[in-house]
Amino acid sequence: MKYLKQFVIPFSGLPEGEHWFDFKIEKEFFDCFKNNDVLEADVVLKVQFIKRSAMLELQFGFSGSVKIECDRCLGPVDLPLECEEKIFVKFGNETYDEAAEVLVVPFGESDIDISSIAYEIIYVAFPMKRAHPDNDCEEGVEEYISIEEEKEDKIDPRWEQLKNL
Ligand SMILES: [Zn+2]
Repeated sequence: MKYLKQFVIPFSGLPEGEHWFDFKIEKEFFDCFKNNDVLEADVVLKVQFIKRSAMLELQFGFSGSVKIECDRCLGPVDLPLECEEKIFVKFGNETYDEAAEVLVVPFGESDIDISSIAYEIIYVAFPMKRAHPDNDCEEGVEEYISIEEEKEDKIDPRWEQLKNL
């Protein structure tokens, strides 16, 4: 996809050593991976790119926030997103060396597309609890949820009885 082209790092012309790349991750980034959960995104990705003779070392650092739907009230909620991850890339014929947990780029390749690696890291870093902090949900919703919970409580004993038959 066109939008993801900016996440391609051409490295063949770079001298060995440390290089830095900055990227902006917006909602469109998530759209490219068919992730509809993200309503808005404002995340800065800094990549420390170390080129060595036989391999690459990429340190990803994400910082910012994403807006997603609250699991409880379905209203939008901003979640902070901070994470770091280091990825090693070597050159070879296979695409991924599972045993070594490194990414493999074919010999002779002159650039690397970091978009899917970045997506995997950021997705794993999403908070498990996607909801407003306590009592901060949109009005009227808490009440509705507690009524639903009561109903479930009333049904439960009957199910218990059925199990005993
Ligand atoms: Zn909420």
